Amino acid sequence: MNIVLLGAPGAGKGTQASMIEERFHLVHISTGDIFRANIKGSTPIGKVAKSYIDAGKLVPDEVTCDIVKDRLAADDVKSGYMLDGFPRNLFQAAELDRFAHIDLCINIDVDVSLLLDRICGRRVCSCGESYHVSTLNGATACKKCGGTLYQRDDDNPETVGKRLDTYFNETAPLVEYYKNQGKLFTVKSGKQPPEEVFAVIAAELERRSGK
Ligand code: AMP
Repeated sequence: MNIVLLGAPGAGKGTQASMIEERFHLVHISTGDIFRANIKGSTPIGKVAKSYIDAGKLVPDEVTCDIVKDRLAADDVKSGYMLDGFPRNLFQAAELDRFAHIDLCINIDVDVSLLLDRICGRRVCSCGESYHVSTLNGATACKKCGGTLYQRDDDNPETVGKRLDTYFNETAPLVEYYKNQGKLFTVKSGKQPPEEVFAVIAAELERRSGK
């Protein structure tokens, strides 16, 4: 099964993706992670992406679509994948439909009032795990791999405001896009812990895969 994970920054896409990956063995592809790895490695893509990411804007479609197209050509995705953070506008969604087949869009719906605190309190590990400072009790190491936790450069109040604007203006219309395709499954996340959100998603995935 090939899945698109949709949701505002801070909705918990990455957290749910890790849990889905573990249970359903779908390959997790995060365009944000790919860009951050390129920035860390000072690659040409990283140099282009950084200015957009720092400004809370979308990296140009051409660059982003090429990265995803290349990634989906690899052998490891043949038995299913999850796209986390792609597509992020209608152009990318239409492009994706040209080079891939998407079965399902999982939309994680969180009240906007909760997002700012979630994002600004987020601490991440390079292995992909993320935490909220309120649950860390001062710990600075990842519980999964022991790596050092850090705050993403773009997880600051100023950039977050711009990222949320970008989400509502450019990405939110994708809810309607996938609804019109009959592929939309929305989970209302609210203040529920990630395990409860995952239980709802897992039940839907099991129902669809006939398990
Ligand atoms: P994320 O880790 O998904 O929150 O992405 C971090 C940043 O990377 C975003 O704010 C964008 O600047 C950029 N980015 C990630 N995915 C995309 C995409 N599909 N299209 C354009 N820019 C993206």
